[in-house]
Amino acid sequence: MDFSWTPDQIQKREAMIELGASLSDGVAVADRDGLFDRSKWDRMAASGVLGSFVPEEWGGSGDDVLTAVAMLEGLGYGCRDNGLTRAINGQMWAVQEPILNLGTEEQKRRYLPGLVSGELIGAHAMTEPESGSDTFSMTTEAARHDEGYVLNGTKTLVGMAPVSDVALVYAKTAPERGRWGISAFIVETNRPGVVKRGPFEKMGLRTVPIGDLTFEDYLVPDSALLGREGAGASIFTDSMEWERSFIFSCHVGSMARQFDETVKYAKTRRQFGQRIGKFQSVSNRIADMRLRLETSRLLLYHCAWLKSNDEKALLESALANLHLAESFVANSLDAIRVHGGRGYLSEYEIERDLRDALGGVIYSGTSDIQRGLIAGLSGL
Ligand SMILES: Cc1cc2nc3c(=O)[nH]c(=O)nc-3n(C[C@H](O)[C@H](O)[C@H](O)COP(=O)(O)OP(=O)(O)OC[C@H]3O[C@@H](n4cnc5c(N)ncnc54)[C@H](O)[C@@H]3O)c2cc1C
Repeated sequence: MDFSWTPDQIQKREAMIELGASLSDGVAVADRDGLFDRSKWDRMAASGVLGSFVPEEWGGSGDDVLTAVAMLEGLGYGCRDNGLTRAINGQMWAVQEPILNLGTEEQKRRYLPGLVSGELIGAHAMTEPESGSDTFSMTTEAARHDEGYVLNGTKTLVGMAPVSDVALVYAKTAPERGRWGISAFIVETNRPGVVKRGPFEKMGLRTVPIGDLTFEDYLVPDSALLGREGAGASIFTDSMEWERSFIFSCHVGSMARQFDETVKYAKTRRQFGQRIGKFQSVSNRIADMRLRLETSRLLLYHCAWLKSNDEKALLESALANLHLAESFVANSLDAIRVHGGRGYLSEYEIERDLRDALGGVIYSGTSDIQRGLIAGLSGL
């Protein structure tokens, strides 16, 4: 495994840090008011980051996954808006990747260029009110019809649902076959038959909306089926491997920025006649933060290296997801402690990271679910 970055990757990461910084204005107000700024989405999309690992024929730049991860880490470092960067990752890994991997030529032509350019916003709709961790217990159904399928059911807690144009939706096409009777559909969400609810008030990631998608006798054509009928569970499992691996790519950059700022503060803030970084309680915290940051990077890069080499990352993706999610929470808490009272005040934009980080121990499978996966893949 080669851990060195090429000059091209370094240059792309630097460019993303710069872009990220330019997108950081006004985040505190947007966070307070729970506002999504479409113009920031468009500016970020114009950089080409959404299409970094998408081939040129579908509007991307055809880079490998490692390069995409380097760019996203840079974006996360520069951009203080964790909601925006989380939404970008959600679209890239949970919507674009499955379409790229399993879509027909027609589906790729219809959706990928628009998603990559940012013109279309994509959502990944799996969770239901009564089906969360137990994903395959879903009740949304897609009944066979002369002209395609009739979709009925509600997906909830769906990131970007209120502003989405297209969603990857999982539904039962043969309820009697359990998990083998689930299919995946690419659904256009701005048509009659789709009801959007939201944005819902939430604790963190407040700059991007989350909501419901309800389908009421919504007719989707055969051409909306992703992969074959009944392949939904394996599509979801495969797609989750990508999502778990890379959904935190930007957050690793956020952790790096948070770390640098915390070290800087520990070197300048003085109490009892000396810099607070001289107190071992503070320096130990800095060491722990560094360890979590570096181990997060290694796990992320390992997944990127495996995927760049077309290898499976079932265990590695669960390890990365669990460690990155929990590390971002732990480091955000430590950053607040080191900054003392200032860390607690919204004005200094330290506390927001903790609120944003907490969602990560729930989405893409809770930390408990990741632990269960890891234990299972370890022979238990
Ligand atoms: C910020 C955010 C963004 C999200 N984005 C999306 C999205 O874009 N698309 C989407 O479809 N969903 C999304 N979700 C939903 C998310 O995937 C679910 O909330 C998550 O899978 C947990 O489901 P649940 O909320 O129903 O909790 P439950 O499954 O009811 O879990 C409740 C508790 O029980 C524990 N538990 C449940 N089963 C087990 C088990 N087998 N072993 C051990 N513990 C268990 C859980 O770990 C948790 O602590 C998002 C959620 C959040 C918070």
